[in-house]
Amino acid sequence: MTTAFITHPSCRQHDMGQYHPECPERLDAIGDRLIAAGLDVHLHHYVAPAATREQIARVHGERYIDEIEAASPQTGLNYIDPDTALNPYSLDAARHAAGAVVKAVDLAMSGECTTAFCAVRPPGHHAERGRAMGFCVFNNIAIGARHAIEHHGLERVAIVDFDVHHGNGTEDVFTGDPHVLMVSTFQHPLYPYCGLDNPSPLMVNVPLSPGSGGAEFRAAVTDAWLPAMAKFRPQLVMISAGFDAHREDPLANLKLTESDYAWVTRELIKVARAHADGRIVSSLEGGYSLSALGRSVAEHLRELIAE
Ligand SMILES: [Zn+2]
Repeated sequence: MTTAFITHPSCRQHDMGQYHPECPERLDAIGDRLIAAGLDVHLHHYVAPAATREQIARVHGERYIDEIEAASPQTGLNYIDPDTALNPYSLDAARHAAGAVVKAVDLAMSGECTTAFCAVRPPGHHAERGRAMGFCVFNNIAIGARHAIEHHGLERVAIVDFDVHHGNGTEDVFTGDPHVLMVSTFQHPLYPYCGLDNPSPLMVNVPLSPGSGGAEFRAAVTDAWLPAMAKFRPQLVMISAGFDAHREDPLANLKLTESDYAWVTRELIKVARAHADGRIVSSLEGGYSLSALGRSVAEHLRELIAE
């Protein structure tokens, strides 16, 4: 069993300004911690290709891609949403972030790697079909899932989202799609202030009150996610891996710890082993305490490597 680690130098060059929490140093914190924890040597490193226009258009359509390309600045920052800006490298980073997840799907489907983690930014799960928002430009996990379905012919893909913010973009893309089960937890109330309505039986969104910790999170996973996944029998498990529900995160008020991320990873490995030949594709979303982010990704990957 091998685990891929996929990133691209452009993901480090996307920079939304000195005080923006979604900062390039997040990737340094992850890389440094993986080396310090002795995990880096067990990973198979890949450079992400850029997603093709066709791959991105499966989720966003040609018009949205044209809009983003037109918004890409020659110098400085161009805000495409109150929280989201493009610098001259951002478009390249966004293409490679999506391409990393496509590559991860290809590696998992070919059997070259069983599990994969994409250390990418900008993140993706707030990006709707036609709207960038919440630090996200292209919906990386959705583009990967569509690739798994349309290129590899999968019929059932599960997307798991444990970021502290609701993955409104992923929900927007897949509501009503019989090929995709979305299970999530998120703090409510909190940005983007939606996700309570579970618009289809394949959307299993569990809001958690501010102050909730590992006990509440594990109950949501055990009582809501795992039965839904057992019934759905996913052929691929994909993870929108945001680590901003950590107790040290400055942007939210949940109280998860590294051990909760290790635990949920082990539970997802069991699901993947039962139905998906062990295939797991995980992609970075949020996580804004640099120390907690590094430690949490390390524990997530420690479990994937051990699989
Ligand atoms: Zn988040």
